Amino acid sequence: MKFDLLSESDQAYFIHKASTLVEALPYIREHSGKNIVIKYGGHAMGDSELSKKFSQDIGLLKEVGINPIVVHGGGPQIGEILKKKNINSNFVEGLRVTDIETVKIVEEVLSKDINKKIVSDINLSGGKAESLSGNQNNLVEATKLKMAIKDSDSNIEKILDLGFVGEPVKINTLIIEQSINKGHIPVIAPLGIDSDGNTYNINADTVAGAIAGALKASKLLLLTDVAGILDENKKLISSLSFEDAKNIFKEKYVSGGMKPKISTCIDAINKGVQQATILDGRISHALILELFTEHGIGTQIYS
Ligand code: ADP
Ligand code: MG
Repeated sequence: MKFDLLSESDQAYFIHKASTLVEALPYIREHSGKNIVIKYGGHAMGDSELSKKFSQDIGLLKEVGINPIVVHGGGPQIGEILKKKNINSNFVEGLRVTDIETVKIVEEVLSKDINKKIVSDINLSGGKAESLSGNQNNLVEATKLKMAIKDSDSNIEKILDLGFVGEPVKINTLIIEQSINKGHIPVIAPLGIDSDGNTYNINADTVAGAIAGALKASKLLLLTDVAGILDENKKLISSLSFEDAKNIFKEKYVSGGMKPKISTCIDAINKGVQQATILDGRISHALILELFTEHGIGTQIYS
């Protein structure tokens, strides 16, 4: 009866809402029970309205039986604190050169400020998030990253020293699985620890990919501050095969922070993740659009 009182446009609005829910059903069935690793990006994280929506989306995923595992970045936030402290940092191939003083600040900002904020946002939205840090309980066993680059003139390969920048060697998945089994949403700071107890700063995309690979996640979603991979004309590349991804990685128009993202997607698929997507975290409810509608967003890389 109440429906009769609604104007035609209101009726259309509510019918549209109802059909959106019904249309989501096959997607909910597809993803339910699966592990989906989500890298929550530095820039996408800064906006309070967007972060509220992100937390609600994560809560919704959990509610419909998906296991979201959140790995967060913190580049811009770390950059701000370092600037305030007058500490300069250089980037090589999208990675921050990290000395001992910097790694302490990185650890503080990532595992205290940012991690706790995301956990509290998810909890405020009704989820049960659990704070985890890669350098605690050997969650992310790491080693110092040895990055080799070829000198363009001589073609001689040299190893760059990026300081306390690490790469994951082993992920102790049991800690994550225990968290999931308790009904929690793991929220992981991208740090690692080596056998001597040194803490390393690790690119959050790399950590997310390593975790997705170790958990054999069905999907890896990398939220960022661009629409996805853009080509030389700044046009979005909406889908890429695994083989094409390996080639595009070497293109001139792929630089900076996009490089670790693409190599992460390639590695994750190599380890059995079915699909990796680089998507725009600045879009409201980006996760819901990507997972529950036919309009996938961003760049999909598939095996
Ligand atoms: P995040 O904080 O999400 O990890 P990054 O700054 O590390 O973000 O990486 C995303 C950035 O990569 C983009 O903002 C863009 O400046 C840069 N980038 C380089 N090449 C490309 C490309 N081909 N397509 C899209 N973005 C690119
Ligand atoms: Mg980055």
